[in-house]
Amino acid sequence: MNSNLTLFERAKRVIPGGVNSPVRAFKAVGGTPRFIAHAKGAYLWDAENNRYTDYIGSWGPMILGHGHPSVVEAVVKAVETGLSFGAPTEREIELAEEILKHVPSMQMVRLVSSGTEAAMSAIRLARGATGRKKLIKFEGCYHGHADALLVKAGSGLATFGNPTSAGVPPEVAQHTIVLEYNNIPQLEEAFTLHGKELACLMIEPIAGNMNFIRASAPFAKRCRELCTEYGALLVFDEVMTGFRVALGGAQSVMGVVPDITVLGKVIGGGMPLAAFGGSVDVMSHLAPLGAVYQAGTLSGNPVATACGLATLKIISEPNFYAHLSQQTRRLTQGLKNAANQAGIPFQTDSEGGMFGFFMLDELPQNYAKVMTTDSPRFNRFFHGMLEKGHYFAPALYEAGFVSSAHTNADVDSTVTAAAEVFATL
Ligand SMILES: *Cc1c(COP(=O)(O)O)cnc(C)c1O
Repeated sequence: MNSNLTLFERAKRVIPGGVNSPVRAFKAVGGTPRFIAHAKGAYLWDAENNRYTDYIGSWGPMILGHGHPSVVEAVVKAVETGLSFGAPTEREIELAEEILKHVPSMQMVRLVSSGTEAAMSAIRLARGATGRKKLIKFEGCYHGHADALLVKAGSGLATFGNPTSAGVPPEVAQHTIVLEYNNIPQLEEAFTLHGKELACLMIEPIAGNMNFIRASAPFAKRCRELCTEYGALLVFDEVMTGFRVALGGAQSVMGVVPDITVLGKVIGGGMPLAAFGGSVDVMSHLAPLGAVYQAGTLSGNPVATACGLATLKIISEPNFYAHLSQQTRRLTQGLKNAANQAGIPFQTDSEGGMFGFFMLDELPQNYAKVMTTDSPRFNRFFHGMLEKGHYFAPALYEAGFVSSAHTNADVDSTVTAAAEVFATL
């Protein structure tokens, strides 16, 4: 049998850092990443046949757990009838109809293959539709790795954003304004300075890439009002929250209506599929109807759409989210009790099947606060749990996920393990 370590050494010779997406490398927490051999329900097994209760769920998509029989059946059936055609199919219409039925702010949707692609295309669409260049994003929100989005704040609101990655020209970053999440005065100031040049404001309405932070109700409302007032488009990046926190996404929980919604993760059920959509008016700017170009060889892929459709069918059954939320809260409440008993500061929040926890005295409202966490302590917690067979995200700034395959017994055994680990921190 190959060990995780030998696989990691072999991978590093042929794949940069041994991984195809950086967070998988365990760089933040140290140690050897687990190479996954197979998965079923709430569990993953690594190359050494160790079993883990999975609280990552492929970073969100696996809302039904792994290998749900109806999903597997739909995928196998789709594979047998053709992997890709490069021509339209009825299944794409069905998936589009299913998405629009649950997210009423969208009247039309375009399917793509990754969240990065969807967010990047949404920005091009917003720029094309408004004829403007600038965009606002928030520190700690992640919208994929397109050039215009790998940007951090400049030294002040009147200055340009700076690239966070080598290879992004400052000329591209200069149109991106980066603000602090949940900071209303700063938001208002940015609109006063740049509102008339803004194509869009892009935000994760519940941020899942700085652990788990909700946009406060007044902040979200102000985002909507200012976009309307200045003629900028409000873009909700619901790649993580869409069909994860509720059937209608975070927008249905918050009661705020965006102009463009970006989806991914759950809508593909584990296959490469993402989407962006909005009103007929906005979406009509897209080629072939309009002048904003966007395309994809594998967009709306027949196997991916079959997987997404099968997943959406099950999660739209009555009480699915009520049950999922209950399991998530059983976990977060259990962890909180265990931490408190060990005298460890602990705060937690969740919505539907998405959760966050912080070894802090209060729930943080922005990225800077999240990063005040005692990270060596988080890393000891992470490795302690992994040793005991419970797989949480390998970084303190990532959200966690519970699936409908997680039973009470799964959650309770995780809480028991956590109590033991907290006692050693
Ligand atoms: C995961 C994620 C993305 C990027 O999606 P990929 O499919 O990884 O390209 C974009 N936005 C948010 C909010 C995400 O969580």
